[in-house]
Amino acid sequence: MARREVLDRIEKYVDPFRITKGKGFRLNDFDPSDTRGLRLDKGEAADLLQRGTQWLAEEQDMLYAQKRWSLLVVFQAMDAAGKDGTIKHVMSGVNPQGCQVFSFKQPSSEDLDHDFLWRYAKRLPERGRIGIFNRSYYEEVLVVRVHEDILKRQKLPPPLLSKRIWDERLSDIAHFEDYLTRQGTIVLKFFLHVSRKEQKKRFMERLDKPDKHWKFSASDVHERQFWGDYMHAFQEAIRATASKRAPWYVVPADNKWFTRLIVAAAIVEAMEKLDLTYPTIDAKKSKELQTARTALSGEK
Ligand code: ATP
Ligand code: MG
Repeated sequence: MARREVLDRIEKYVDPFRITKGKGFRLNDFDPSDTRGLRLDKGEAADLLQRGTQWLAEEQDMLYAQKRWSLLVVFQAMDAAGKDGTIKHVMSGVNPQGCQVFSFKQPSSEDLDHDFLWRYAKRLPERGRIGIFNRSYYEEVLVVRVHEDILKRQKLPPPLLSKRIWDERLSDIAHFEDYLTRQGTIVLKFFLHVSRKEQKKRFMERLDKPDKHWKFSASDVHERQFWGDYMHAFQEAIRATASKRAPWYVVPADNKWFTRLIVAAAIVEAMEKLDLTYPTIDAKKSKELQTARTALSGEK
């Protein structure tokens, strides 16, 4: 199948989940178990994903060779939505040298001595690289919004702790992303949208299977109580920060195979749009290569 044709097909699947305009966005309009009528068995899905990751690897190789653009891929989700597995599978074919994954957990005391974007800005991908944020600056308007005692620990001067703080932070994030895109960083944001029911099932599996016990955390179960608050915070975040330049993808996450396909497809599609090619060489470099060839073939 020609590339163009494959891309057209991909677009059909990715389009419904891409949010480029936040106004009026409602999380309830999205079904976590949606697969767009696509029914694939495990083998077929794995096969398709492998083609996607191979394609991604080719794009990444050119990105790396050019060292102009960079790609920031943000993953946000409730626990057990499949962030780790998606990152592992989607990036499986990519050259590790061109890819950096950062997982953001509770901030350190050094982090808390700085503005909220500081620790994330330090980890942005260099030109030519793909940077993956497993959780990101969005936590600052998600977990911190849901649990306001975390905000209290952020040492902000009291007059700045107003009711407007979440709108202000969201606006700062939107501007930060505008800035990044104007610097040549492509920003893609994925919300892996799992249902509360499916999360429960996955937690139960973690409890049932000894090799998954390490993944289980009692605090994850505790956070389920705040499901509604989190969904509200996600909706607000997407409304305020979805744009053409830095789109959100609300990816159904009740079926892991579908999540992975959509994420891989969205990344490939965004990279394809860059029309990447390998750098061409100038006359001087061409001469240098010729000289090297002559020298090498003259060796005994
Ligand atoms: P996994 O459970 O798969 O290892 P994870 O991303 O859930 O991955 P954890 O160590 O379980 O990692 O959780 C990290 C925790 O840190 C999350 O509960 C998250 O909400 C929290 N966190 C991330 N960023 C911040 C922040 N800026 N302020 C406060 N808490 C944060
Ligand atoms: Mg966790």
